[in-house]
Amino acid sequence: MKITIVGSGYVGLVTGACFSEVGIDVVCVDVDKKKIDNLNNGIIPIYEPGLEKMITRNMEKNRLSFSTSLADSISDSEVVFISVGTPPDEDGSADLKHVLAVARECGRTMDDYKLIVTKSTVPVGTSIKVKNAVQEELNKRKLDIPFDVASNPEFLKEGAAIDDFMKPDRIVVGTESERAEKLLNKLYKPFTLNGHPIIFMDIVSAEMTKYAANAMLATKISFINDIANLCEVVGADINNVRKGIGSDSRIGTKFIYPGIGYGGSCFPKDVQALIRTASENKYELQVLKAVEAVNTSQKLVLFNKINSHFKGDLRGKTIAVWGLSFKPQTDDMREAPSLQIIKELLAAGATVNAYDPVAAEEAKHHFGDTINYCEEQYEALIGADCLAVLTEWSEFKIPNFKIMKHLLNEAVVFDGRNIYDKEEMHNLGYQYSCIGVKTVQ
Ligand code: NAD
Repeated sequence: MKITIVGSGYVGLVTGACFSEVGIDVVCVDVDKKKIDNLNNGIIPIYEPGLEKMITRNMEKNRLSFSTSLADSISDSEVVFISVGTPPDEDGSADLKHVLAVARECGRTMDDYKLIVTKSTVPVGTSIKVKNAVQEELNKRKLDIPFDVASNPEFLKEGAAIDDFMKPDRIVVGTESERAEKLLNKLYKPFTLNGHPIIFMDIVSAEMTKYAANAMLATKISFINDIANLCEVVGADINNVRKGIGSDSRIGTKFIYPGIGYGGSCFPKDVQALIRTASENKYELQVLKAVEAVNTSQKLVLFNKINSHFKGDLRGKTIAVWGLSFKPQTDDMREAPSLQIIKELLAAGATVNAYDPVAAEEAKHHFGDTINYCEEQYEALIGADCLAVLTEWSEFKIPNFKIMKHLLNEAVVFDGRNIYDKEEMHNLGYQYSCIGVKTVQ
């Protein structure tokens, strides 16, 4: 079986690598020639644990290849996945120009039956637009070629993407024909054989499922951040409250960790897009509007703490920052809280010494030479007036606090991810502040 995956970003590359890993012939297509040239030379454009080895292994077995031309690969592929970006438009809705460009390209280049599967996160109703775009191109060519569209939203998490794809909690597929359902059932068989479920449904519900899932997860984060902020005001400790509520199986322990707001390429844009879909349909998603508002203010909570520690005057202060990516195990900085916090620190006149295990190169696109990039975590502390932890990378979790005290001008730590213990920090002589715990400075 041969398939084409259009869009070789975080989702497309992982999808391509994992399908080839189970024996399917995969061509990954992208319009970015430099990216494709690099991939053909074994250079992987993103950091994702396990991805490089998997890509190399399958390229060597000739099951995985990279191309800039959909026209070249489509004739041998019965299934074409669309996994291009769907960035937010100015009004918050998902911009479908890349998805529809691929659909038109399919219509221009296909010469026999194709199943065109949208894997990108797209609003309800997109499959009809995809179908129309393909049909219009076929009409222009005066051809009557059968094709199906399907929706197969992706739920992988960056940082654990390979595992999520190989052992999914579920695979959601929206189809409107038996042929499409059979094809996708066959394609996913290697992943469902050992019990991972595939859930078939209508296309509209599949499209909605992806947004509802991300909206639910974003809601959990904003909920716990809101409660954390209240804990701080009333003198409760969110770390205790979190354990207390998480032990209720109806609530569960996952995704109720307080922090400095959700970021990444999905939650912020998908929450916005769902709010937009609702308003286009004359419905107001009141809960999600509040989720977004809480998240916007949460991204400034740590900056406000730092600013008030220095009595509102950060001029001449140096802030060490550990962690730039929006979460550990990725170099993705899209909508990362670090972007806003560092921007505020710089605007207030502070100097920033930043360290991240993998995201420094990406950070250079955002900050250029306005911040200092450190090669290793302790270097960032030299001459700094405090440390701010913005991403919970494992290597930050048990650092050498004694060395840190020598390097820092003042033993002050702002922990945006609650990875340290308040009592321990105080016993070590640190002024320590985290999220949702009242601390005396
Ligand atoms: P990305 O920005 O990393 O990659 C998108 C790729 O598509 C880019 O390489 C771009 O050059 C390419 N592209 C754009 N137009 C093209 C065209 N006409 N033909 C061929 N290639 C084209 O994006 P991503 O993070 O992989 O996300 C892709 C989609 O998957 C989005 O809709 C996103 O919301 C969704 N998604 C992302 C994640 C995630 O964790 N990143 C998880 C689930 C779903």
